[in-house]
Amino acid sequence: MTLSCFDLGERMLSVDEARAAILALVAEALPAETCALAQLHGRVLARDVVSPLDVPRHTNAAMDGIALAWPDDLEHASRWERVGQVRAGTRHDTPLLSGQCLGITTGAPLPPGADTVIMQEQLEAIGDNRVVVDRPDRVRRGQNIRLAGEDIAAGDLALTAGTRLSAAELGQLASLGMAEALVRRRPRVAIFSTGDEVTAPGTRLSSAGIFDTNRFTLCGLVAEHGGEVIDMGIIPDDQASLADALAEASGSADLVITSGGVSVGEADFTRAALAQIGELGFWRIAMRPGRPLACGRLGTQGTPFLGLPGNPVAAMVTFLQFVVPLLARMQGRDDLKPCCLTALADHALTGRAGRVDFIRGLYHCDANGTLRVSSTGAQGSGILSSMVKANCLIEVGEDREGVRAGESVTIQLLFRFP
Ligand code: AMP
Ligand code: MG
Repeated sequence: MTLSCFDLGERMLSVDEARAAILALVAEALPAETCALAQLHGRVLARDVVSPLDVPRHTNAAMDGIALAWPDDLEHASRWERVGQVRAGTRHDTPLLSGQCLGITTGAPLPPGADTVIMQEQLEAIGDNRVVVDRPDRVRRGQNIRLAGEDIAAGDLALTAGTRLSAAELGQLASLGMAEALVRRRPRVAIFSTGDEVTAPGTRLSSAGIFDTNRFTLCGLVAEHGGEVIDMGIIPDDQASLADALAEASGSADLVITSGGVSVGEADFTRAALAQIGELGFWRIAMRPGRPLACGRLGTQGTPFLGLPGNPVAAMVTFLQFVVPLLARMQGRDDLKPCCLTALADHALTGRAGRVDFIRGLYHCDANGTLRVSSTGAQGSGILSSMVKANCLIEVGEDREGVRAGESVTIQLLFRFP
């Protein structure tokens, strides 16, 4: 049975229950579109890519030197007649006879009959067409060659549907000669901040104002996870403005995200605005930071909507737990849970049974190669510097009162530029 976000009521939900219910807002991946190779970075493949050719196409030289058929007896291994030269980009189709070799540059196809390349540094030229091999006992048959199809053979599955394309995958598509690929459309995510106190950076701050941080953390997160941002700005705490903004966003976006305005003090007001144009559930989730959250559908298209908490760390942590899997599903990916590792706690960590604590952490490897993690320090849900310092979220599960120094704990890796 799939949980729906509308019939969960107002009881406290577990993180897993909330994630499942939010995922149910999206039944299938967005439509596919064909994109040029140069535009594919960060996109997700909509179908498998099968190689139309062998890579490399020909067995070829891995070094500059000579190509030859290595003899069985070392007696005939040191002196060779050089009958020509083949450079990368050309071919030599005449088979070599016994005792003959061919000069070859890296990447050039081996001539018929050749099975070995000896590198230039091991050779001495005598006259124009005689070559002496230094230490022939060190040569191994088959050395310094790259076999046709050793990277990918024709007919092999090169990349699977659902793969997000980064630098290496772009190179692989290029090596197969593919100038374009079928990928999922990027999810269009409308983002706005709410709150009378919230002020755009670059404008004057009133005496009680704060700068809008969430719109920028959330825009960054959307981009990191393959989405395209529709920036809706800041909406004041006013029911009509909020309802108008939500209605407009629901018409153009695949997903609408707000931050702020869903805490207990404001819930009734926000609820009224949302009820005008959508179907909403309000949740408390057994996690810290992160409660409360609103979830539902907007407008005639039933555009998925998530109202994240206003506190900057809570907005980021809830995005990572609930919006990232949604973006993954929209792009046809099946990794719908955060990427986790296990590390040993450097020191005691606080937690509480019945709720998941997401502590901003720094993981590192100790001298023995053991993964260890420590907290970044102060953990208030408004302390954004805790996210700036972190390279992971430490997940103290709902079954634990806390973590003692040296105990193992789950960590969720955060995206960081190297
Ligand atoms: P709210 O959920 O609207 O009650 O907001 C909770 C806290 O987060 C308050 O201290 C707000 O001022 C703060 N907050 C809300 N939205 C933002 C934002 N976009 N940027 C920074 N802080 C915010
Ligand atoms: Mg507010």
